[in-house]
Amino acid sequence: MKNLVDKLYENKNLDREELYALLSNFNDVKEYLFKKADEARKSVYGNDVYIRGLIEISNYCENDCFYCGIRKSNNKVCRYRLNKEEIYECAKKGYEIGFRTFVLQGGEDLYFDDDLLVEIIGTLRKTYPDCAITISLGERSKESYLKLFEAGANRYLLRHESINKHHYSKLHPKNLTIDNRVRCLQDLKEIGFQTGAGMMIGSPFQTLENIVDDLMFLKEHNFEMVGIGPFISHKDTPFKDMPNGDVELTLVVLAIVRLLLPNVLLPSTTALNTINGRNMGIKVGCNVIMPNLSPNNVRDKYMLYDNKISSNLEAGENLKSLQNELNLIGYNIVIDRGDYKNN
Ligand code: SAH
Repeated sequence: MKNLVDKLYENKNLDREELYALLSNFNDVKEYLFKKADEARKSVYGNDVYIRGLIEISNYCENDCFYCGIRKSNNKVCRYRLNKEEIYECAKKGYEIGFRTFVLQGGEDLYFDDDLLVEIIGTLRKTYPDCAITISLGERSKESYLKLFEAGANRYLLRHESINKHHYSKLHPKNLTIDNRVRCLQDLKEIGFQTGAGMMIGSPFQTLENIVDDLMFLKEHNFEMVGIGPFISHKDTPFKDMPNGDVELTLVVLAIVRLLLPNVLLPSTTALNTINGRNMGIKVGCNVIMPNLSPNNVRDKYMLYDNKISSNLEAGENLKSLQNELNLIGYNIVIDRGDYKNN
């Protein structure tokens, strides 16, 4: 197995069988894999950790994804949406703390139409010319993506969730297809967004073969950003009795992604931190953390999964504690847009 890790480190690639072998037998080699992933990350990004201020603008959602706590059919959710002023206030607070990237994330809420988003993005762009603006608002038309880009957005996060048609259809209702997801991701790339895809680890019915296919998809499209965290069940969804994803396997997959795409912007996700309580991901190749900048009174309403944390080190206002914690393990939060490095 060690030779597979070396091969992956050197070639930045493995074939399907090799990836499968590594994923199914990682126990003896995982420490070595983590070490090489950390080396790869350091050779591109050093010890720097980029921070992104996450602003959860709405928990209304048109979609009914079986895994997600804010799915349309969950009538127990107390729905909210932020108004423009609230969003600007979050950004202002974030800027003062040191954030230079704002991520507007939310359910697929038609209230946020192109005109409103263009206005919000335009205002943020003018107020914070030195900041990156990331959007994570799901599937839209190419025309819509283009308008957001022209208004000043730089990056777009849209996890592909699973590249396998059959598996994708077990996670989503019929009106959502992997073909449209991939269409969206291609449109975003063509328009010029730094684009992020990704998947949950341990989502219901996921096999190791599915993960191999997902890894090959990520490599093939050379995404600038990749979001990966463990599946965590939510009590008011059809998957309420499904087991959570495995933390070890999630870390192994993150390390493999770092070695496949050494330049990738790779967050240690909130879902991962929710299960293990620490920024373990940072030691295995992750270089991004996305603390929460949403207003305090809505934080507990954006519950994608049970016990999602938004306090302590996940809270934007506690950046100093996060910095101290990362310093202890040899990493350093930088005040920087943290763009993708081409080399
Ligand atoms: N509506 C946007 C943002 C979704 S939230 C969109 O569709 O892109 C961002 C990510 O959270 C999703 O892509 C999904 O992979 C993840 N997520 C949702 N429910 C989850 C759960 N139960 N456990 C872990 N991650 C989850």
